Order: sequence, then structure tokens, then C-alpha cells
Amino acid sequence: MITIKNYINGEMIAPKSGKYLDNYDPSRGKVYAQIPDSDKSDIDAAVAGAEAAFPIWSKMPKQERSDFMIKIANRIQDRLAEFAAAESLDNGKPVSLASHVDIPRAVSNLKFFATAILHYASESHAMEGMGVNYTLRKPIGVVGCISPWNLPLYLFTWKIAPALAAGNCVVAKPSEITPMTAFMLSEVCAEVGLPKGVFNIVHGLGQKVGDAISRDPKIKAISFTGGTATGATIAKIAAPMFKKLSLELGGKNPNIIFADCDFDKALSTTIRSSFANQGQICLCGSRIFIERPIYEKFKKAFIEKVSKSKVSYPSDPEAKLGALVSKSHLEKVLSYVDLAKEEGGDVLTGGEQVFLEGEYSKGYYMRPTIIEGLAYDCRTNQEEIFGPVVTLTPFDSEEEVLMMANSTQYGLSSTIWTENLRRAHRMAEEIEAGIVWINSWLVRDLRTPFGGVKNSGVGREGGFEALHFFTEPKNVYIQH
Ligand code: NDP
Repeated sequence: MITIKNYINGEMIAPKSGKYLDNYDPSRGKVYAQIPDSDKSDIDAAVAGAEAAFPIWSKMPKQERSDFMIKIANRIQDRLAEFAAAESLDNGKPVSLASHVDIPRAVSNLKFFATAILHYASESHAMEGMGVNYTLRKPIGVVGCISPWNLPLYLFTWKIAPALAAGNCVVAKPSEITPMTAFMLSEVCAEVGLPKGVFNIVHGLGQKVGDAISRDPKIKAISFTGGTATGATIAKIAAPMFKKLSLELGGKNPNIIFADCDFDKALSTTIRSSFANQGQICLCGSRIFIERPIYEKFKKAFIEKVSKSKVSYPSDPEAKLGALVSKSHLEKVLSYVDLAKEEGGDVLTGGEQVFLEGEYSKGYYMRPTIIEGLAYDCRTNQEEIFGPVVTLTPFDSEEEVLMMANSTQYGLSSTIWTENLRRAHRMAEEIEAGIVWINSWLVRDLRTPFGGVKNSGVGREGGFEALHFFTEPKNVYIQH
């Protein structure tokens, strides 16, 4: 049994309480590791370490900070197979996905921000005949990073990399459900000799550890990715202390398919955008709107392919879907299938749990599920399910599909399939989402602003947006 440790002030240590939580392997439904059940006292120690390290780290030349981050990235790259296997074991996702997406992207995040900081310039504003303003961008101090379980190391590094590159010291909490690769990352940081206190990882429950991060007045900014309700809780606590907040929250993304689309491309990409990572990606398109002339054709082809998608244990190279992340999450997703039926939906394929053989018989598997016949404004089509469940809805006009697409409280991402350029631009303009993919899905350029509108979040991550978030601008004016 592996026992995970906190990484506080450069040391791998047990939680002060001495208490641990069970960590499950979702592919077998079995406890395989122990996680520190940390609390405020561990956060206090991490904050003290981070405060002490701040003068050293923030004044260190950018190039040296960058060198540390590149070393960390390279160590992860060297151990890619090991990290991918650990991510898959912890989360239930196919190993192939962890080794092609999660871990390479974690490496890219670190490398991207390690080099972005070297190119980060600040503005100057000259005033004719008077003088010049220039903007200094200073690191904030101690910052908090809280991340979810669906893309564990990918999203953890997406926050930590810009925070560290900008010269902040970090107190971070990975999801208690998937702590393993963050633990491995802390070992790598210790190995490369990252100065103590610069980066601290405190494991445990959101309601204890996350809450302590939100409440600590010495933590001046929080970057959070997770559910909308949790984001609201954090904002409520942090706002009176005027903490800077970046909140990346839930989604209920539309995938809009016009009759003039490249049918085969739309079909194959829609399979991925619906069910990659068992549908547990905040950017998955869970509401599929299909223009009426191709509705039946698309539905038939989609069902045929999806019903053949192999649900299997994560190390099966043929697995298209692995296990869902936890028993309670599987139950929640299945309860939405029941709700969809109550709301008048027809389950076209899937809808039920999958029981594998042998050592995987207690794993949390579910068949990819397609439902039709629901009103656009029913609960199934409005609430985030975050699992392998999509709905199909026909539409007759741009106005109608925009109205349905924009009808939820969320506005994270959207996908539009059309060969009509003018329509693509019109739709991109009108859709309420922070991210629009046209004839593609999940194509990511790390320089672009990333985030949602409405209840999908506040602020943007990515590129210089993230470096702006993790710095405070100070304007200096010099009279000629
Ligand atoms: P949660 O909001 O439940 O948890 C996210 C993180 O917050 C976890 O580390 C969690 O800890 C912690 N947390 C829980 N309660 C509190 C609290 N009171 N104070 C501070 N921290 C707390 O989300 P999930 O982990 O279930 O992730 C799924 C959600 O994340 C979905 O809604 C999804 O859409 C969203 N998401 C958004 C993305 C985006 O970029 N917009 C990307 C990926 C996911 P604990 O370990 O106890 O769970």
C-alpha cells in the first residue's frame, strides 16, 4: 500500500493530524493508497514555508526560475510511462490517453510557462511632451492553486507553472480523489533541488484543505478549477479579503452540426468530444444539436460507432473508455440516465453500468450513452452530468439552435460543424462561450485565453493571461 506524503517547505512529511484517507483504484474498485487527511495546521505550515521562500524565489533571475521548471518538465518526460500508468491507475482513464494527452500536456505546461516568462514584456505609455509611464509586473506573493480530478496532473501544472514562473510561491491542493501524480511531482521537485518552500502540495479534502486555502489571509490569489458550486463557495470566502480569483468552472457545452458539415470528420470528432476520458472533460460536448436534414443519418452512424466503443480496463490497448473516477460519481451519472427517462428521453444506446470480469469486476464502468427526445430546457439538458452521456436534438435554423445552445447557465466551450464560412463566423460571434471550435475539438494553443463566461467561470488562463493573473501591475510615471 502506497502512503502519499505532503510536500511542505521542501520536505515530504505526514499530515500533522496523523490521519489518512483511502485512495481508490476505480478500475478495480479497490483501495490502493493512503492520502494525508490534512487540515488547517498543514496549510499554516505550507504558507509559512512559502512566505519565507518568497523573497528568494521572486528575486531569483527569471532564467534561473525557468531552468528549474525545465528540469522538472524533463524529469517527468523521462518517466512518462511511469507517470501515465500512475495517472491511469488513480483516475481510471485508459493508459493510452494518459500517455498521449495528460502527461505530455503536463510537460508542455511546465515548458511553455518556463519559456513564456522569458518573453513576458510590460507596457509603456508615453505622454507627448510630458513623460512616460511604464508598467512593472510584480509577483503577488503566496498564491493558492486548487485543481480537480478529471485531468489531474494536466490541470495541476496548468496553474502551478504560470504561478511559479511569475515568481510566486505556491500552496497547492490536488483533488483528494486523484492525488498520485501530484505526489510524484513533489518527489521530482525535491530531486531537482527546487528551493524549499517555493512549492508546497497539501493533500486532503476540499472542505478542510481547500477551505483553509480560501480562508488564509496570507494567500493573496487563488486559481481554482472545479465545479461551479465549489467556485461560488470559494468566492464567498475570498471576496471580502479582496483576493484575486481565477475560477474555471463547469460546462454544458453544445456541439452544433449543420447539414453542410464534413460528415465523416464531424462524426469521428463527435465520438471523441462526447466520450474522451469517459466524458469527464469540462470541454466535452454533451448536448449535440443536429440540423434536421441529416439528423437521422447522423444518429444512425453515431449509434453504430458508439455502441462498438470498447469499455475496458485502463491498460487494455483497445479500451476506448476506462472506468469512471469513483463509485459515487458513477452513481450520479447513472441517476441522470434515470432522470432523462423520467423526462421522456429515449436511451438509444448504453445507459447502464458495465461489469468486467475477474480483478476488474468491481470497477466503475459505464457504457457510452446516447439519449434523444428531450426538451432543450429539461434538467438533463441543463445540468452538468460530467460523464459518458450525450443528448441528441434536431434543429431547423441558426436562430433556433443558438437559442437552445445559449439556454444554460454555463458558457465554457462550443463546437460548430459547417463548411459555410460566413455562418461559422456568425455563430462564433453569437454563441455564449469562452471557447469556440469550428470543425475541430480540443485543439489547444497554450498562448490563447482559456476560460468560460456566465457560470463557467471568472477570468482567463493560458498564455500571458495567466502571467497577468499571477502578477500585480504597478504603473510608474517619470516626468521628462
Ligand atoms: P469540485 O469542485 O468538487 O472539486 C475541485 C477541487 O476543489 C478539488 O480539489 C476539491 O477537493 C476542492 N474543493 C471541494 N470543496 C472545496 C471547498 N469548500 N473549498 C475549497 N476547495 C474545495 O470539482 P470536481 O473535482 O468534482 O471536478 C469536476 C468539476 O470540475 C466539473 O464541474 C468540471 O466541469 C469542472 N472542471 C472545469 C474545468 C475548466 O477548465 N473550466 C476543467 C476541468 C473540470 P476534493 O479533493 O475534496 O474533491
